[in-house]
Amino acid sequence: KTDLSKANIERLLNEAYTKFKDVKEGKNADYIKELANVDPNIFGIALVTTDGTVYTKGDISSMVSIQSVSKVFVMAQVLEELGPQAVQDKIGVDATGMRFNSIVAVELQKGKEINPMVNPGAIAATSLVAGADSAAKWKSILQKQSDFAGRQLTVNQPVYISEAGDNLRNQAIAHLLLAYGRMYFDPVQSTDIYTKQCAINVNAKDLATMAATLANGGINPVTKKKVVTPQTVQYTLPVMATAGLYDDSGIWYYNSGLPAKSGVGGGLLAVCPGKFGIAVVSPPLDAAGNSVKAQKVIKYVVDQLKVDPFLIE
Ligand code: GLN
Repeated sequence: KTDLSKANIERLLNEAYTKFKDVKEGKNADYIKELANVDPNIFGIALVTTDGTVYTKGDISSMVSIQSVSKVFVMAQVLEELGPQAVQDKIGVDATGMRFNSIVAVELQKGKEINPMVNPGAIAATSLVAGADSAAKWKSILQKQSDFAGRQLTVNQPVYISEAGDNLRNQAIAHLLLAYGRMYFDPVQSTDIYTKQCAINVNAKDLATMAATLANGGINPVTKKKVVTPQTVQYTLPVMATAGLYDDSGIWYYNSGLPAKSGVGGGLLAVCPGKFGIAVVSPPLDAAGNSVKAQKVIKYVVDQLKVDPFLIE
């Protein structure tokens, strides 16, 4: 039986922290030079329930860049602005089964079989965000991410500058999408906004609050602000479930049953609909680009709480 009492959640987070804190597997991302310099020992866990109770364990003051986790909330923003059919038709919602920055995934089906959780679909989503110019689009993206987190978020400038000077691959993806008629704003500027959105600083508590806002049907359970509609959440979670952990999305979903999203900064969040959001920050990644410790912690907590929706007892 699921026991979401304060005592049980606190006990489980403590247990998970102790059990996994000494795991040494994985390695910081280093293809973005600044990320190689982040302290690999940062380890923070947070769980926020849909009634707005915040639980934390470990380091929640250290910030990491949000990276791909931002993709969830830009997708939600585009769903909010244009609706589910437009996202399906203009971006795509099929898992690629390939690495997050795969160009082959774009090329195979002329940019159609992608989704907003991997770079091509994410840059396309960013290009679709309403706004008269690049500055307006960026302002509204930062505001939306902040509303999900329940506080004003800011950009990690060194990470942004480091990636912006070295993102030719993402620019190539944006141009290839443009060639297929699936980029909806200037490709260079869209890639730049996307790079900035990836450099937003967050801690585990921010990510758990963002996840909890989804778990709560789009209302931030801490600030009570209505950030997106239940329909937006309804269409965001399935894409997280099928593509949130890149080419290991199937393995993750098989093992946890929960929609989740990772980023190469070391953040991972998961959504337990109607119940809570959970997030872990720990920079060392596995080969697919997912935080090793974060996957272990969330899987452990989900198992112990028996909240896998496919567990029918
Ligand atoms: N900014 C990163 C990139 O585009 C995000 C990738 C990720 O977190 N998987 O490569």
